Amino acid sequence: MILTTPLIERLAEEGPVHVVATPANAGILANHPAVTSVILFDKRRADSGIGGMRRIARAIRATGATRAFLAQGSVRTAAVAWLAGVPHRIGFATSPGRVLYTRRVALDRSLHHAQRLWQLGSTPRASRDVGTETIPALRPSLFPSATDESHVRALLQEYDVGDREPLIALAPGSVWATKRWPSYDALAAQLVEAYGSTARIVVLGGSDDRELATSISSAVEAAHGPRVVNAAGRLSLLASAALLRRARVMVTNDSAPLHLASAMNTPTIAMFGPTIPAFGFGPLAERRRVVEEFSLACRPCDAHGPQRCPLGHWQCMRNISAERVVPLVREFVPSR
Ligand code: SF4
Repeated sequence: MILTTPLIERLAEEGPVHVVATPANAGILANHPAVTSVILFDKRRADSGIGGMRRIARAIRATGATRAFLAQGSVRTAAVAWLAGVPHRIGFATSPGRVLYTRRVALDRSLHHAQRLWQLGSTPRASRDVGTETIPALRPSLFPSATDESHVRALLQEYDVGDREPLIALAPGSVWATKRWPSYDALAAQLVEAYGSTARIVVLGGSDDRELATSISSAVEAAHGPRVVNAAGRLSLLASAALLRRARVMVTNDSAPLHLASAMNTPTIAMFGPTIPAFGFGPLAERRRVVEEFSLACRPCDAHGPQRCPLGHWQCMRNISAERVVPLVREFVPSR
């Protein structure tokens, strides 16, 4: 959803944009000036059956939309657009839902995924002649509210973080186990040693990351006292974006927080293990570094990152030491 925002902005130049989103994703688009309305599609629960699809189709029909951009690519979303009677249904030629599209756009694997999505909004002629249209450098956009900012302020006050204290954000989580770089605890400890009281470490993540974040903050606290703000599970996605706007740098895996940092143009250090940036999901902040283990022939081994290393050694992540990352953080946040 975050990477779809450049397409949404492009389409908003031509008319109203109504976005169909799951409840989990909808909040990220709050306050976005390019979004006219958000239609909630609870496809795993309330709207999982044909009745739910019909309800969403009616909601889409009520908007009067004449084009549906099927960024997500499933047969179900294509079927909903068809049920809604949207005459032009546009998506990638490789998507499962392509049988129901009226225009299939070639997926250019050389592009960032934000650019591929943006290309769905190109004219039919340009999309037929992929490669002839100039694709701009793109960055997603998000718009945290004043309330999101106040939630961040309250959390930082809880940890006695000064208004001007530099923040170094770490996002250790990922749905895919092999994408989770295992040395965030060592990195946090080394950063606390390097910065002392001149910068603060903040661990970001969802409620599923709370245990991991707590293990990192507890490990640091045992040696150095309470120097880590544990924000995992405490902030919404947009409030996390608001916090990232304040952060001087973000160290993250190949996962959702990376795209939040891209949207807020927060300098990003991205850890890539079983996946590679060439898949199209690398960082887009102006200042960014990618850390990866180039010596392994097994990389990349999976489009998402498997839950277990198929070779058992997981060297793509284990070989990356915290010592290798600390100097990169220092590039963005000079230490004492
Ligand atoms: S097979 Fe290689 S790339 Fe895949 S998880 Fe294992 S070490 Fe990483």
